[in-house]
Amino acid sequence: MEINGKTRVCGLLGNPVEHTLSPMIHNTLAKILGHDMVYVPFLVEPGRVAEAVTGSLALNLLGLNVTVPYKSEVIASLQEMDDLAGNIGAVNTLVRTEGGYKGYNTDMEGLYRAMTDEGISMEGEQIIVLGAGGAARAVAYLCAVKGADRVYMLNRTLGKAQTVAGEVNRTMGRDVIVPMAMEEYNKLPEGKFLAVQGTSVGLAPHVDDVVIADEVFYEKIHTGFDLIYSPWETRFMKMTKAHGGRAYNGLKMLLYQGIIAYELWNRVSVSKEDAQVVYEKLKAHLTGKV
Ligand code: NAP
Repeated sequence: MEINGKTRVCGLLGNPVEHTLSPMIHNTLAKILGHDMVYVPFLVEPGRVAEAVTGSLALNLLGLNVTVPYKSEVIASLQEMDDLAGNIGAVNTLVRTEGGYKGYNTDMEGLYRAMTDEGISMEGEQIIVLGAGGAARAVAYLCAVKGADRVYMLNRTLGKAQTVAGEVNRTMGRDVIVPMAMEEYNKLPEGKFLAVQGTSVGLAPHVDDVVIADEVFYEKIHTGFDLIYSPWETRFMKMTKAHGGRAYNGLKMLLYQGIIAYELWNRVSVSKEDAQVVYEKLKAHLTGKV
């Protein structure tokens, strides 16, 4: 594209940002849809998020994504918050308004679109969520909102799972999230589960790691969804498949959280066909077939 005086700028605030796939998502969409927009990563040093947001506003940036470790810290710098983002307590998208930025969380809706795309439903399901960090918290909230029967949240640090469970259960008005320590997986009730892997264990380059290594656990899983997309197939996914389950990685979640942000910034709706073009490009990049 040719950058000119009218080109709108969007970007990513985070640390680190070197390996982000977001520029590929947004710049590909801008090209397909013919929008005069460019998306760039911005490395923000610790303690400088507020300055980064004020500076972005002064520079007339159209919108921003926010990634690790600033998804909660950025909230203090916003003019307004979307209700959903407020309930989750984390923001990954800033949309420019008259007087400042409004914060949204498109991770959760992104995961929902990704699961819907794969034919995975949460309604009435017994669900296991591994992890209680930023991403797992959004997953637990999504499961609860979409009518899960029970969500067993297993985390290495039990206290964090208890905190998330307390908050989500209070917001939902029902005891839907059950916090457990990771090593208590053998105390899960009988039956088959949808399991969402939301810890950072197994992320490249530590591709041989898995948060629960016991084969017996995988007999409980009918569908495994790992939020990790690098490696393309995690050990969690391999073990799920080895025990007869279906398994998916987190690339579609990443894709759709980006698409929803793009839609908010540009007030458009991205078609399934265009989403597929971006997905294939990301997949080719991740699997080395470029
Ligand atoms: P986070 O807030 O740092 O949380 C990390 C989680 O992993 C915590 O539950 C932590 O447990 C657990 N963990 C870390 N090391 C562990 C170990 N050795 N053994 C057991 N548990 C361990 O990170 P996050 O932002 O939630 O991200 C989690 C994962 O989701 C990352 O791999 C990230 O790449 C992925 N993600 C993907 C997308 C997507 O679009 N696909 C979006 C967001 C995140 P403790 O609480 O005990 O420390």
